[in-house]
Amino acid sequence: MIVMKFGGTSVANSEAITRTISIVKGKLSERPIVVVSALSKVTDLLYKIADQAASRNKAETEVLLAQLRARHTGLAHELLSGHPALCAEACAKIDSICDELESFVGAVCSIGELSDRSKAVIIGNGEYLSSNIICCAMKASGIRTGYIDARSMIVTDSCYLKGEPDSALIEERVPAIVSKAFDGQEAVITQGFVSATVTGEPTVLGRGGSDYSASLIGMAVDAERIEIWTDVDGVRTADPRKVENTRCIEKISFEEAAEMAHFGAKVLHPLTIEPAVNKNIPIYVLNSMNPEGTGTAILQSSFIADGVKSVSFKENIFVINIFSTKMINTSGFLKKVFEIFSENRVSVDLISTSEANISVTVDASQNIDGVVGRLSEFADVIVDSDKSQVSVIGKNIINLNGLLRKTFAPLQDCKIYMISQGASYVNISFVVDRSVLSDVVRQVHKYLFENESCN
Ligand code: ADP
Ligand code: ASP
Ligand code: MG
Repeated sequence: MIVMKFGGTSVANSEAITRTISIVKGKLSERPIVVVSALSKVTDLLYKIADQAASRNKAETEVLLAQLRARHTGLAHELLSGHPALCAEACAKIDSICDELESFVGAVCSIGELSDRSKAVIIGNGEYLSSNIICCAMKASGIRTGYIDARSMIVTDSCYLKGEPDSALIEERVPAIVSKAFDGQEAVITQGFVSATVTGEPTVLGRGGSDYSASLIGMAVDAERIEIWTDVDGVRTADPRKVENTRCIEKISFEEAAEMAHFGAKVLHPLTIEPAVNKNIPIYVLNSMNPEGTGTAILQSSFIADGVKSVSFKENIFVINIFSTKMINTSGFLKKVFEIFSENRVSVDLISTSEANISVTVDASQNIDGVVGRLSEFADVIVDSDKSQVSVIGKNIINLNGLLRKTFAPLQDCKIYMISQGASYVNISFVVDRSVLSDVVRQVHKYLFENESCN
């Protein structure tokens, strides 16, 4: 059995879906579980609908909901014009999902209040719309296709917008559900991103979470491999949208890929690697627009050479500086500080300490008000915004002679706020002003990857 996950751009329109289905068709002998994201930009649209509903902007929600329905209905007609029964089935599904969503959004508009729980219900609909249409399109192409509601498989806690999966329960549930869905079928399709609590309340896995869904399902069925189909030829030496002359990496280790994803490379959701590592399941990152390409294999570290693999970045981070002359040396101070981060579910990336100061970086998408409030009760806290974090990643980079010199050589005039070399020997990270990020990433990439003397 294999898991094949197709992201938003791989299912963006009828052309992309047709290409995706032909990729699946080529792998039927391996019993593919197909995991799909929402059509490109649809989750953003659903977030907008949720926000407009929360501000009681009923007229605007109606316009956006109409766009949502029209895009999916139009797509079903384009894909299924030669198959009237399947087209009717897909359109009936679209109508039922959209009708239910419209009445839910109407209720949110009336009360003008949007809990995380309600938001999770709204933003998960993109995956239900796409998976139902693609399921019918797979059947129309002659693939005997089973359908699974991912919320019956992916169990999380009740952190509605970023559910923490219960791996043990998922491993217990998924094999039976999958084998039932395969009964008499050649492939099965399910949604990425969406999940539910043990009592069935809808949750989601966080933005970009379909990769994580694929890897959790792969772990639970002991998949032979997990394929992440996207819009680039594999994992590259840097984000090709930011840096010219990036190269595709043929293979990287689980640890390198996890660090890259955690430190900003959007090509994989940061938690994708963990379930696969537990079962040693290889992950392949592949381009649905170039299915002949070999992509990137993410494998056990013993198959991977030492050396720099990539430059990642997080564009928008906060540096939280905590000053406390009285307490920094007392035992238990760090524990107290990090308990506050943990209680507020704010995850910390880099840490550096001096005698009277602790500096940490956190992703600016997180709400740090609670953390800052609590820390301010016993320390002076200064938050620096408009900062970015750059990470150079590669196996055993600590052994590379002069890597720090090489990394910082092109940055002589650049102010560096923090430096951290991870204990894992896989990562050197530093913090710069957001205004110079693009320049810094390009220069470091150029120096490390395009400079013969460095390779
Ligand atoms: P999908 O919708 O298929 O999940 P994403 O947009 O989430 O696709 O991820 C693919 C994008 O990740 C690419 O288009 C690319 O711009 C970005 N990206 C960032 N860093 C890297 C990297 N190191 N290698 C490849 N792609 C990267
Ligand atoms: N559709 C969701 C998002 O846009 C999940 C995903 O694409 O992985 O975040
Ligand atoms: Mg993605």
